[in-house]
Amino acid sequence: MANPLFDALFAPLSGRSSRLLVLASGAEISGDALFRMVARTANALRGAGVGPGDRVAAQIAKSPEALAAYGACAALGAVFLPLNTAYTAAEVDYFLGDATPRVFLCDGATCEALAPVAARHGAKTLTLNADGSGSLAEAAEGQRDLITPADRGPDDLAALLYTSGTTGRSKGAMLTQANLLSNAEVLVDLWRFTDRDVLLHALPIFHTHGLFVASNVSLLSGGAMIFLPGFDLEQVLAALPQATALMGVPTFYTRLLDDRRFTRDLVGHMRLFVSGSAPLLAETHVAFEQRTGHRILERYGMTETNMNTSNPYEGERRAGTVGFPLPGVELRVMSDGREVAPGQVGVIEVRGPNVFKGYWQMPEKTAEELRADGFFITGDLGMVDAEGYVHIVGRQKDLVITGGYNVYPKEVELLLDEVPDVLESAVIGVPHPDFGEAVFAVLVARKGSALDGEAALAAIRDRLARYKQPKAAVVVDSLPRNTMGKVQKNILRDTYKDWFKR
Ligand code: AMP
Repeated sequence: MANPLFDALFAPLSGRSSRLLVLASGAEISGDALFRMVARTANALRGAGVGPGDRVAAQIAKSPEALAAYGACAALGAVFLPLNTAYTAAEVDYFLGDATPRVFLCDGATCEALAPVAARHGAKTLTLNADGSGSLAEAAEGQRDLITPADRGPDDLAALLYTSGTTGRSKGAMLTQANLLSNAEVLVDLWRFTDRDVLLHALPIFHTHGLFVASNVSLLSGGAMIFLPGFDLEQVLAALPQATALMGVPTFYTRLLDDRRFTRDLVGHMRLFVSGSAPLLAETHVAFEQRTGHRILERYGMTETNMNTSNPYEGERRAGTVGFPLPGVELRVMSDGREVAPGQVGVIEVRGPNVFKGYWQMPEKTAEELRADGFFITGDLGMVDAEGYVHIVGRQKDLVITGGYNVYPKEVELLLDEVPDVLESAVIGVPHPDFGEAVFAVLVARKGSALDGEAALAAIRDRLARYKQPKAAVVVDSLPRNTMGKVQKNILRDTYKDWFKR
């Protein structure tokens, strides 16, 4: 009997007396204790009717029990379907209707509203609260803490992760055991993770970054995790002295840099800082190195593909780039059906064992984005420079087409960010009566400055072709971001859609 994912990530925890998780309270959970939690949870879920191939949806807080629920699904050969805790009942309704899970795990506080929704879609609801209590824990109590894992192969589904769906319906990305495992193996090797590592884990575990990149890498390497419920600056500062590595989204790093207690001394012992899920400003990269002496290692991936590229562990980690394709991953940049030359911008396509199997029950969408030759069309615009470093220019759907000309928002944003009073910027296209779309800038001022939008535009005027210059700018307090720190340009486009309406 084999179950590659369970065998690699969870089976080795059995009998491991050393700590696996360190919680915010300082409490520690050994590998063996988590293994037994996984086994009891798996037996409880099996009792609720979950078998191989069944989906288990979970809209639950991050906790050791939540990690155990993921392990339990691996043991049962079930498909783990984590949902963002911010999703509303209407959104959960869509996901449960689409994925038809056997069991839905939710917090006791939302159970009353969500259990009828789950029941309508044929799912049994069990509760799992942030402190580990709830009807799942009750069902797990007294279960055997041994489990015979279901027989599974590399191509069997292990997880279903819905894309953030900023345009159109959210799609369920089908990830196989081999997708997850191959990527974790490559990353452990590339980033030199060992059983001596203590990963500061402050990411959510409903998303590929926290669940697969962080947790799988740590589990596979046999290391430990400081498992925080989220990014709380005080908790992170307090935990850093015990950690060897941190994986974060760019906002983790800007928030740390904003605090004077974040010093070279505090992190002198650290081995690695990884950033991803959203672009890390070159300015942050430089400021981080100046403060700490460490160069952040930026990597690029997405729900459908796991990780695709990474800056090198040894060798130059280049600011503003996402490094090189991972071993085993092929990457090409395409425009008009042809691969473009180095330095040219096009749509990034990737192929490799990391690339998902397709979208859940959406064969047409799958066929649109996953080519017959196995290349996945990421929808990210990028270029590969002469030295092979990959640069992400933005999402294809964020491209602005004004008067027939293409404008890459990133090019304009980089210039705006250099204006002294500008803290950050987002450039979008908004409907315009003459140009179809007009370039439009949303600016955030540096603390204490009196930023004027027109003055900021005037400051970059000499540096950009006329058609690329924003036709208007607004100054706002902050940019809308999702939990992973990505700027939600769809919200900005909606907010300013009538700006040029006559
Ligand atoms: P998600 O599926 O939520 O992980 O989002 C994936 C998207 O995040 C990618 O398609 C990119 O647009 C973006 N992304 C991830 N990592 C990076 C990065 N290092 N730099 C720029 N964009 C990134």
